[in-house]
Amino acid sequence: MPPFLSKAREIARLAAAGCPVLMWHKVAPIPWRARARALYVPPGMFRRLTRSLASLPARTPPEAASGQPGGVCLTFDDGFAHLLGHALPALVAHKLTAIVFLVAGRLGGHNDWETREGEVREELLDAAQVREWLAAGQRIGAHSLTHPRLTRLAEADAREEVVGSRRRLEDAFGVPVTDFAYPYGDHDARVRALVAEAGYHTAATVEPALPTPGGDHLAMPRFLVRWRRGNPLKALAARWLGRRPGVFPAAGTNP
Ligand SMILES: [Zn+2]
Repeated sequence: MPPFLSKAREIARLAAAGCPVLMWHKVAPIPWRARARALYVPPGMFRRLTRSLASLPARTPPEAASGQPGGVCLTFDDGFAHLLGHALPALVAHKLTAIVFLVAGRLGGHNDWETREGEVREELLDAAQVREWLAAGQRIGAHSLTHPRLTRLAEADAREEVVGSRRRLEDAFGVPVTDFAYPYGDHDARVRALVAEAGYHTAATVEPALPTPGGDHLAMPRFLVRWRRGNPLKALAARWLGRRPGVFPAAGTNP
């Protein structure tokens, strides 16, 4: 299996064999100071990709986990605020339904688990923006309360992250929250047991593979979708040359 995907034809080929679960984090222009550049996909690439995917049925995580071929499942981790401006219009235009896995204790905050490591600050969806996302026919799932590595936590703390995030999102938005994504893809048997105990139907990892019939729904593999041409020097050069107006904004508009 490829370690990540970046082209519609790779995704279509996988969709003929199964139901690839696609994962994005930040659909936004890549700030030149960004460290984990692979977690950014420029909005122009996202628009082009969704246009190409529009003919494939968009599956829910439980449908994808069953391994039935012929569709794709679109997922976003962390719940960045720029999804509303950069991803939602393309999803709506192509009648695609996606799920965003929210860090339930950080709504309206920022990616503090990344900025602690020196990453660029990005805002997270607040409650009103999540309602807007839901009103547009999209789904939400849980991605813990604070984005820890769950396998490193004491049992009670890990349970609160897993159970508490579901409870908090259901209370806030009045919709069932039955799908989970492990922060950093970090899970083991103990964490999977907590996810089962919390009543989630699926839990997504970051293993690049296709879900298989009879596979573990609480270890659902996913493919990272990234931009292959993520070279910072090239990005900077392209911005200066102004040849990719849909991809790189004018200087100063980055967060
Ligand atoms: Zn995450």
